[in-house]
Amino acid sequence: MPDSKKPKKVSPPPAPRRNGFLFNLAASILVLALLATAYAYVTGSVKPQPPTIPISQLATDIGAGTVSSITVNGDDLDVIYTDKSEKLSKKEPGTALSQTLANYGVSKDALSKVMLTIKSESTWELWLTGLAPFLAPILLIVVFVWYLSRQMRGAGMQVFSFGQSRPRVTDPNDQSQRVTFKDVAGAREAKEELIEVVDFLRNPKKFLDIGARIPKGILLMGAPGTGKTLLARAVAGEAGVPFFSISGSEFVEMFVGVGASRVRDLFLTAKKAAPSIIFVDEIDAVGRVRGTGVGGGNDEREQTLNQILVEMDGFEPNEKVIVMAATNRPDVLDPALLRTGRFDRRVVIDLPDRRDRLDILNIHSRKKPFAEDVNLTVVAERTPGFSGADLSSLMNEAAILAARENRKTIAQYDLIRSIEKVMLGPERSHVLNKKEKEITAYHEAGHALVASVLPYADPVHKISIISRGRTGGYTLKLPFEDKRMQSKREFLDDIAMSLGGYVAEKTVFGDITTGPSNDLQILTALARDMVTRYGMSEKMGTIALAGDGGRALFGGGIEGKEHSEKISAEIDTEVRRIIDEAYKKAEHIITHHRAALNAIAKRLVEVETLEREEFEKILIIHGITPKKKEDIEHQPLV
Ligand code: ADP
Ligand code: MG
Ligand code: ZN
Repeated sequence: MPDSKKPKKVSPPPAPRRNGFLFNLAASILVLALLATAYAYVTGSVKPQPPTIPISQLATDIGAGTVSSITVNGDDLDVIYTDKSEKLSKKEPGTALSQTLANYGVSKDALSKVMLTIKSESTWELWLTGLAPFLAPILLIVVFVWYLSRQMRGAGMQVFSFGQSRPRVTDPNDQSQRVTFKDVAGAREAKEELIEVVDFLRNPKKFLDIGARIPKGILLMGAPGTGKTLLARAVAGEAGVPFFSISGSEFVEMFVGVGASRVRDLFLTAKKAAPSIIFVDEIDAVGRVRGTGVGGGNDEREQTLNQILVEMDGFEPNEKVIVMAATNRPDVLDPALLRTGRFDRRVVIDLPDRRDRLDILNIHSRKKPFAEDVNLTVVAERTPGFSGADLSSLMNEAAILAARENRKTIAQYDLIRSIEKVMLGPERSHVLNKKEKEITAYHEAGHALVASVLPYADPVHKISIISRGRTGGYTLKLPFEDKRMQSKREFLDDIAMSLGGYVAEKTVFGDITTGPSNDLQILTALARDMVTRYGMSEKMGTIALAGDGGRALFGGGIEGKEHSEKISAEIDTEVRRIIDEAYKKAEHIITHHRAALNAIAKRLVEVETLEREEFEKILIIHGITPKKKEDIEHQPLV
């Protein structure tokens, strides 16, 4: 409910409030001090002062014998009479009291009856008593200022120690945290490169004696989750040196100037601990091309980056500190970072291939009890494109599934289910209604059927109409091998296979849902790439009409038109022709194998997911021979 009364006091931001508090404290202490002094004065004056008499009067009184004692206090005289009354007087400065009194005609006899006390007050004591009322507040202020400055320094120290980077340090002697190359599967090339670095860190003298220049900076590049961080730790673990790690993204959120001081400090600490490794994770967060203004200028980032560069340039050749950095965006890095003497060694970490995936799965199955049926080779086969991190979370998901079902061991079934979970996000609770389910089943059956009949499409591993993540149903088709290259006929068959869903819906229901829109986008982009990028259209010839950055962040909008209206029109016609041909192919297959389509769709509605074996049985019944690995391998390349 909105507050109808006075607007709520907006509490000031914390920092100023803290200052205000200190100011109030200061003010109240000052006021107190002043009050105290004032009080002292007042009380001093309230005390009844004895009357003051001239020295001539005193002389007369002594002559009369009414004075019993005199206390001399400098020039001040404190006179006590025989009747116990007290009076004050003053003698002539610089002369003795007896002399003064004699001058006034006091006889020696009369004077001898008076008790004379000379209070020899040393001058500084005098000064002190005189000054005390003034000194007290000054002293108070001094103490207060000292206290304040100590506080400030305390706060400053906090900022400073915050600036002192507190990098996470991994002690080489801490066995529990130690990571070695054994913990990193795959990444063979990267490891080979890094073994040299390990060698140097273990025995720097050998290299320095022979005058070898050791790389200062090594940049690990690779997709997220490919084990860059892990590999950097492994280098430190292998070499047995301290490992100072800090993340680029941490710099970005710091106060201005702190990032730079943090870098300075990090390098200082690392040098003290040399030989050692400094690891700047996600360096793209600070190392982006400077001065582009994209995403708002960030002075802090620039200062931090500059400081890193300065520190790296300032290394002595024999410093024995190696800087490693990791990024999954080497394309956005500032070129200054990549110059000689900085991160001039670059190590690329690829996504793991099937063999590596198996190794990674094995590493992550340590200490996990498996059922007898577990076959990690199959899991590795089914997970192309998975990163090391994906595989590790797959293992974890499987363990969670098994635990949830109160089993003591992880079964193959758990692993297979986890593949999809990691790939597509958690299962959605949304349940298709009967009609939707039927349409989806025909749609996916269409994809699967076209893929199975066309010779160059990848074989179907699984079909599902359970909606998950962001896709409706899905047909999982996987190559037998991981491919780095694709041929024109594979592209053409892929386009036809993507049209399979659309064609099936149209043929069976005579109507189209929104389901295939994503398919259409993908296949159109693919057809366009064939024409404009890969030179796969006879009509347009073998030229790349689109620049490499054509589909980068800002698309072609910034690039401007690269070709004339006429060529654009020709491209469109060519793309249309490719899609039309693929459509005809898909339509032919769907009508020709309508019985198979119906059987697949019907089974899908019943069981919702079809694994490869069962799917292929249906194909065989309908006279379609499932693809074998050998068939694909022995196809000649066009
Ligand atoms: P990156 O820094 O490249 O994003 P990480 O090094 O943080 O990736 O990897 C995350 C996790 O994934 C690691 O802690 C490890 O458990 C697992 N992982 C990644 N790559 C591998 C690999 N090659 N071998 C074993 N485990 C890996
Ligand atoms: Mg990382
Ligand atoms: Zn589809």
